[in-house]
Amino acid sequence: MSRNAHADALIAFLNASPTPFHAVETASERLLALGATRLDEKEAWNLKSGQTAFVTRNGSSMVAIRLPVDASRPKFRIVAAHTDSPCLKLKPRAPDPSANYRQWGVEVYGGVLYNSWLDRDLGVAGRVSRLDAGAVKSVLVRGEGKPFRIPQLAIHLDRGVNDSGLILNAQRHLLPVLGLQEPGRTGRSLEGWLEESIGAPFASLTFDLHLYDTSPASYGGLDDEFVFSGRLDNLAMSHAALEAFCAEDAGRDTIQVAALFDNEEVGSTSAQGANSNLIEAALERALLALGRTREETLAALARSHMVSADMAHAIHPNYPEKHEPYHYPLLNHGPVIKGNAGMRYATNGETSAWFRGLCGKAGAPCQDFINRADLACGTTIGPHVAAALGIPTVDVGNPMLSMHSAREMCGSEDHGMMIRTLREFFRD
Ligand SMILES: [Zn+2]
Repeated sequence: MSRNAHADALIAFLNASPTPFHAVETASERLLALGATRLDEKEAWNLKSGQTAFVTRNGSSMVAIRLPVDASRPKFRIVAAHTDSPCLKLKPRAPDPSANYRQWGVEVYGGVLYNSWLDRDLGVAGRVSRLDAGAVKSVLVRGEGKPFRIPQLAIHLDRGVNDSGLILNAQRHLLPVLGLQEPGRTGRSLEGWLEESIGAPFASLTFDLHLYDTSPASYGGLDDEFVFSGRLDNLAMSHAALEAFCAEDAGRDTIQVAALFDNEEVGSTSAQGANSNLIEAALERALLALGRTREETLAALARSHMVSADMAHAIHPNYPEKHEPYHYPLLNHGPVIKGNAGMRYATNGETSAWFRGLCGKAGAPCQDFINRADLACGTTIGPHVAAALGIPTVDVGNPMLSMHSAREMCGSEDHGMMIRTLREFFRD
């Protein structure tokens, strides 16, 4: 079944990470197993040359840093990605039953393709919190043994759907069905499951809970040439950044950084998003811990480079007209450099040139993506972090289809090529 070790590892990471909280926990365990030190933003940092360490914020963003063995002229090599994916988030309380259905209200997080959430077996996962002796305590939860469902309306009751398209109202049409409610019968409840998970009454609990597709990530295609999964955007690049970081050793002068941010899908403005001071503070504190001054930190930043890694649109076989006819990426043809004249991507000619060089060193082909000039372009964390740190940045990603669907697809060969290229970057 296994096509390659890198894709195997990606599939395991996806299955372990139904939410950004779980992704950061999975990544933390990987780093701890490597011997990395967990840093606390609230305490002083004591770091030594050659040390690997990481810090998390909100449990959903992280920055991993490896100091060089000799930092006489330090510079940063940063790979940045995002941990969040569009999804449906549970509202705080259940609505009244509709007919005899027990349901739960949801909010839309990010640019969700609504239809992709219909008729799937959905689990619920995330973080549950409560005040305990004056301090907020949180635990991660994950439940999929008793799946929920957002049932689509039968075609007999929606005769025009195949001609006029499916119109779904976020408030009325996306509520999952949890079960049935019959008078005089007490069954399981989501509230009860949460109470059991944290050992406290439901009224005392608050939460950040997401629905997710319980079908595990898997290979697809006649020759296992695809990976099918939810959250490929952007756990695939989060995983590539982490794997490349973990595979490297401390270099000379280069401070290797893997930065994984939450909240990209809703604009990155939060305490833990790419617009926060998370990375800037972490980079400065790493150098201060080595006894360096702010002046030296600023000089190190000016010598630095960043790769912003987020998935890219491969050409869709059924909609080739949606793509720029001379700049469409192919699956399993290597990393994609994303450019946009409006700087929705941070790439420019120079940063593109050095990323091509890295692909060459890694023996990976490399592709260009430009949106059609008559279509609005997406964006990513690249321009935000590039602006905050003043670091030349290239926006790249692996090609995929069905971006923002509950179940997306990408090529299984591209993952290893991106990891090899990012490893070259960390050695640069
Ligand atoms: Zn993305």
